[in-house]
Amino acid sequence: MDIICTEKELFVFNKIAAAAEALGVPCFLIGGFVRDKLIGRPTKDADIVCVGDGIELAHKVADSFHPRPSVSFFKNFGTAQIKLDDWEIEFVGARKESYRQDSRNPQVAPGTIEDDQLRRDFTINAMAISLNKADYGRLIDPFEGRQDLERRMIRTPLDPLQTFSDDPLRMMRATRFATQLDFTIDEAAFNAIKADAHRISIVSQERITDELNKIILCQKPSIGFDLLYRSGLLSIIFPQMVDLAGAEYIDGMGHKDNFYHTLQVLDNISKNTGDLWLRWAAILHDIGKPPTKRFEKDHGWTFHGHEVVGGRMVPKIFTKLKLPQNEKMRFVRKMVEYHLRPISLTKENITDSAIRRLLFDAGDDIDSLMTLCEADITSKNKQKVRRFLENFEMVRQRLKEVEEKDQIRNWQPPITGEMIMEKFGLPPGRMVGELKNAIREAILDGVIENNYEAAADFMLKKAADLKLVPVK
Ligand code: ATP
Repeated sequence: MDIICTEKELFVFNKIAAAAEALGVPCFLIGGFVRDKLIGRPTKDADIVCVGDGIELAHKVADSFHPRPSVSFFKNFGTAQIKLDDWEIEFVGARKESYRQDSRNPQVAPGTIEDDQLRRDFTINAMAISLNKADYGRLIDPFEGRQDLERRMIRTPLDPLQTFSDDPLRMMRATRFATQLDFTIDEAAFNAIKADAHRISIVSQERITDELNKIILCQKPSIGFDLLYRSGLLSIIFPQMVDLAGAEYIDGMGHKDNFYHTLQVLDNISKNTGDLWLRWAAILHDIGKPPTKRFEKDHGWTFHGHEVVGGRMVPKIFTKLKLPQNEKMRFVRKMVEYHLRPISLTKENITDSAIRRLLFDAGDDIDSLMTLCEADITSKNKQKVRRFLENFEMVRQRLKEVEEKDQIRNWQPPITGEMIMEKFGLPPGRMVGELKNAIREAILDGVIENNYEAAADFMLKKAADLKLVPVK
């Protein structure tokens, strides 16, 4: 074998080879599995292509296992899958493809292994390993994919203009592979992406977002965003992010380039979390800056309220990108709205009540918020970074102390709305809410203690101000 496989993999490939031989169809391992084995990356599922009927081959392979695994197949696509424990093997017949201008779904006809390799997106994804008796285990690499792996290069087997125009999703895939593998996109291919970028519009939003999320989950997502930006794809798929780019100068005063700042924050946070939504929060934390940007004669550039405006932009962006409209979106919005809170606490105002308020508002998301806030500390000015980090550590320490003392994180005030309604014979409404809030605020501010007696006492005083009389 030209690739190094585990015993289990070899056992399965031998069975596939035997089944293919019995049917008289040449068959090959192909695509990502071969690529990842060659670079020593963990492999996932394996793709098998045969010069014949992939579904028939899958059934024949399944027959040779005891117990027989089930075969799921899609007649329309001519594909079949077998699941062996948590390992999926996909079978398909070799095919030849031709494309129309308005669709990324090709016309398909049976073809040879060469045809099938030619239809693959990148040279590194087009390599095959023979599972045939005559040359079992031999690497079939017609486009120098192996060399491209060594050169760390993303290149297309055909003319890149053709490749990307045929299926524009490949532009996103090229960017994603370049980010995942830390490879360079070949110059001709990158120029073709620039020229074909507008054709991304024929690709479904779900597919685009799927690739975008894969980029975001890479070790260094900035690689992908920088490529998307420079190729022109980003301005089509996510224009609000492009609006962050550039620095404007008035009277010799400039502001930082918020696009590259955002990428830095995204890379920073990616070192501390694998959570897709917290990474999205990093991407969107300053998204409200372009619409709030002002130049004030005495202060220079300001972005007042960008966290609120940015928060409001989150649902719109999530809708457009077909990201979920659920608690994930609410979490991202909350992170964007609160991202200035921890660092805005300075030495003078890190009072217990300020900390309690932050804990209460952030609730269980406090750790995520602190992770975002820490990632947001970027500056060329080393002294500034040091000052912010010191301040940040202080806030973190105080959060720990206050939480240990007061346990505010999942706290509910000791007097509920029901209690208020019962005490004063009130129907649900504004008055109840007002009293409840007043009690909560008094506790968070440290005006009264956090217990039932103090809260009940305070409630009676506040109610008297509002001319409410207890009925019980
Ligand atoms: P990963 O699993 O990390 O996404 P992969 O290479 O296995 O990597 P798949 O999307 O599973 O990616 O695709 C399997 C193979 O099918 C690829 O290696 C490539 O040869 C081919 N392929 C997938 N999508 C396309 C496409 N849009 N155009 C051309 N070939 C493609």
